[in-house]
Amino acid sequence: MAADRDERVRTDVAVDLGGTWLRIRAGSGETVRLPAPSILNRPGEDPAALLEQLIETLAEAVPAGARVAMSCGAAMDEEHGVLHGSGPLWGGGPDRPVPLRALLTARRPDVSWHLFNDVTAGLASFVERFARPGHRRAVYVTVSSGIALRTADLTERSVPVDAHGLQGEVGHLPAVSTAPAAVRALSCPCGGTGHVAALAAGPALPHVAAALGVEHPEGIRDALPARLRSGDPAARRLLSTVVEPVAELVRTLRCLDPRIDLIGIGGGYAEGLGDPYRAELVRQVSEVRSYADRDTGPDRAAHGLRLCRPGEVDPMAGAVALSHGALTVTKR
Ligand SMILES: [Zn+2]
Repeated sequence: MAADRDERVRTDVAVDLGGTWLRIRAGSGETVRLPAPSILNRPGEDPAALLEQLIETLAEAVPAGARVAMSCGAAMDEEHGVLHGSGPLWGGGPDRPVPLRALLTARRPDVSWHLFNDVTAGLASFVERFARPGHRRAVYVTVSSGIALRTADLTERSVPVDAHGLQGEVGHLPAVSTAPAAVRALSCPCGGTGHVAALAAGPALPHVAAALGVEHPEGIRDALPARLRSGDPAARRLLSTVVEPVAELVRTLRCLDPRIDLIGIGGGYAEGLGDPYRAELVRQVSEVRSYADRDTGPDRAAHGLRLCRPGEVDPMAGAVALSHGALTVTKR
């Protein structure tokens, strides 16, 4: 009874930890945005000092006895609150996991800390907003500074993960691409070549443009929307090239699991390109290539496939929903 009362009076605090920004929202108040104490913002700084500063900042920002739901931009084990692939944050690789929940709990034991991967949080927000009764499985793909996806089983409200707490880290699979060899040989931030992220994530755009021989590749991120509107064939080819690995992921997901009723594409890069990205994605997904595609066509391909608009998916709201049990992350 006392525990119930404690849960009810706790202030909900939502936190979004990314490589660039740390955003904090207490209750229904304003969202405060601070530069993240990350290696991305401060190259060369001691990762241990950056981590300590993050813990201090959160410890000072959070009211007494609060309930914190935090979306973390790193591959992580959500059961134990341990971050694995935290390169943009602290330069840590898979061999340097950070037990962030334990560190935060040690610093502020009065607070209940709930940590989730940002793609899982995005999935929860996407499901809350767009899933309908009868949908069996929903997938959320983030196309941003990196690429990853999560699938929820809506019949049991679960997000199944492996023994390390991971699922859907597709950004570092080889990209399916019909682009010239120079594009397929592009290097990935993970050290590999030709990965999905090396072609289709936001930071890859100037490199893909250069490999295709597009003029002024360094400024292409800002110039691409206008060049697409003007019908520039080089811009169209560039868009087609960066969409292709994502379209192939969608095609593969649908081929492997007919229970997937809803797929959302979000993330700042895809959302920022907006309608042209959506149109190219639908065009590619609806291509008929074999007998297995007889049920496609643009209407069929677009059905259950949603390119999110900016703001539709909110990882902070998703983290809060997860902390209240909207979906359960389940190890199998
Ligand atoms: Zn990679």
